Amino acid sequence: MQRKKRVLITGAAGFLGSHLCDRFIREGYKVVGMDNLLTGNIKNIEHLFPLEDFEYYHHDVTKFVHVPGDLDYILHFASPASPIDYLKMPIQTLKVGSLGTHNLLGLARSKGSRILVASTSEVYGDPLVHPQNESYWGNVNPVGPRGVYDEAKRFQESITMAYHTFHKLETRIVRIFNTYGPRMRLDDGRVLPAFIGQALRGEDLTAFGDGSQTRSFCYVDDLVEGIYRLLLSDYPHPVNVGNPDEITIKEFGEEILKLTGSKSKIIYKPLPQDDPKQRKPDITKAQELLGWMPAVSRSEGLKKTLAYFKEVI
Ligand code: NAD
Ligand code: UDP
Repeated sequence: MQRKKRVLITGAAGFLGSHLCDRFIREGYKVVGMDNLLTGNIKNIEHLFPLEDFEYYHHDVTKFVHVPGDLDYILHFASPASPIDYLKMPIQTLKVGSLGTHNLLGLARSKGSRILVASTSEVYGDPLVHPQNESYWGNVNPVGPRGVYDEAKRFQESITMAYHTFHKLETRIVRIFNTYGPRMRLDDGRVLPAFIGQALRGEDLTAFGDGSQTRSFCYVDDLVEGIYRLLLSDYPHPVNVGNPDEITIKEFGEEILKLTGSKSKIIYKPLPQDDPKQRKPDITKAQELLGWMPAVSRSEGLKKTLAYFKEVI
């Protein structure tokens, strides 16, 4: 019988990492989850603990990473990801994108594994090209407050490509656009949990700026499908994965009010520094290379996410 493939997932107790663990278990892999619970929650993966095919290592990936046994694939998802998290932990954020990525590339090299790293639409900064395609280099303020995240991810991409070019490592880079779904933290400060939490508590929704800035929200199952296909592809360069259905933050607030039936109002607060004015992925590459496009509409995805938040609030 063929041996099961074994995959290491860092950031396993987080929002995206936990969904990836579920997916790889379902696909018949042995999964090694690694996390230091900086922003994650062990409850997200507790259901996997009884499984023979799941192992968990509590470890900070900015320190030397050792995993006994074979590893076919490594998915590096550890990193604070929401603006309030990375603004609270700027040095940790820089370290996990740089030292953490370096450690995992070294591990991949020593095990002969293929590695996929979680990059972000933030590499495009406050973009001057719209929608953003992979050949755009971005508009990032390296010394602004968001620079700790954006530059860590830009360095991550750079060192990953260097390992590919110089060490012939098999690498994949996914540029993830705003993703949502069950297991997001209600208090992570991102707009979707903020608005849903406020609506459910009967508080006003806090739109930053005049709410005219745009985002494009992707449901987590669609994202996981895109990542799975990218990992199994042979394409080493960055690929955008996200949902191109763009909406202003004001309209998004109105959708949440309608969905929850809340009587709350939308109120306006100052726009954080360097907040991108527009964001929408060009997913031509993912469509052509991976045959991937999102399948879950915002209204469907929001219903599923609301059901989750109603349980945990
Ligand atoms: P999350 O905060 O829910 O998950 C991140 C996980 O990484 C947490 O469980 C945290 O405890 C763990 N972690 C952080 N530092 C660590 C360290 N030094 N060692 C070990 N574990 C550590 O965030 P998420 O939304 O699941 O994001 C996961 C990844 O995807 C991140 O790399 C993020 O940058 C990237 N990403 C996410 C989005 C999104 O919309 N959710 C968008 C773009 C990129
Ligand atoms: N935002 C908002 N109110 C909130 C939280 C966020 O209006 O309570 C805005 C934020 O300024 C940004 C957008 O919503 O323009 C998306 O913010 P989020 O933190 O979710 O993600 P990112 O800015 O990283 O895309």
